[in-house]
Amino acid sequence: MTYPVVFIGAGPGAADLITVRGARRLAAAEVVLFDALTDPALRELAPQARWIDVGKRGFCDAVGQARINALLVRHAGQGLRVVRLKGGDPSVFGRLEEELQSLAAAGLAAEVVPGVTAALAAAAATHRPLTRRGAGRSVALTTAMTRTGALHAARSADTEVFYMAGRQLAALSRRLREAGWPADTPASVVSRAGCADQLASEHRVATLGEASLLHAGRPTVVTVGVGAAAVTGESTRSGDATLIKGRARPVSSL
Ligand code: SAH
Repeated sequence: MTYPVVFIGAGPGAADLITVRGARRLAAAEVVLFDALTDPALRELAPQARWIDVGKRGFCDAVGQARINALLVRHAGQGLRVVRLKGGDPSVFGRLEEELQSLAAAGLAAEVVPGVTAALAAAAATHRPLTRRGAGRSVALTTAMTRTGALHAARSADTEVFYMAGRQLAALSRRLREAGWPADTPASVVSRAGCADQLASEHRVATLGEASLLHAGRPTVVTVGVGAAAVTGESTRSGDATLIKGRARPVSSL
């Protein structure tokens, strides 16, 4: 007898942002395959399980993905209760498609438990709703990186949230202008959104490059357009993260 492999969205970093369902499924796991961006404190929810780190170097390339797929199939095929714990939501830039295909090819079942994706944690941290009545009718989640590692920008929605752009903000600024975003469009940058040390800063499309140093080395999302603007009447100090034009401060320094 085999059990469905449970894909669980761990949320954006802080352990308490996992869903109740996700926590319950995790507590029943015998094997947990986890990514680099998941909070180590989540281990307390499944101390009985064998935790396998597949977020380390060597698992990030195509070969690494094949090894993850093989590990999922092997453990589930042995009749173990397997959890695949992913940062944010499994369906957003999480290679879920490949892993589901591998299980299906092996005749194994799967269940997906959603999680809080980074774009939502950033919106919550900064009090900047992604949709706005009348003005912000659409939101796009976009990866700034193409398969070949080239930088990509688009203007496909009123609010566009870019993932995986943190290392190339100056280049993203140029690409955004080429894609048709006016230079003075609001841009909100949040790193480690949802975590105790989250940082946020506000910019314009033309000045996005100045955020590079502030957020260096941290997982970062860039929100551009209607959903990046401060809410009228809220001070720039509102929200859980300090927002200062061109500068960012951790929550703990408040
Ligand atoms: N499945 C994840 C995304 C994985 S791709 C999700 O739903 O959030 C990895 C990218 O996600 C990072 O390069 C960064 O752009 C973004 N990211 C993940 N966690 C983040 C966080 N806590 N704060 C800001 N960006 C984050």
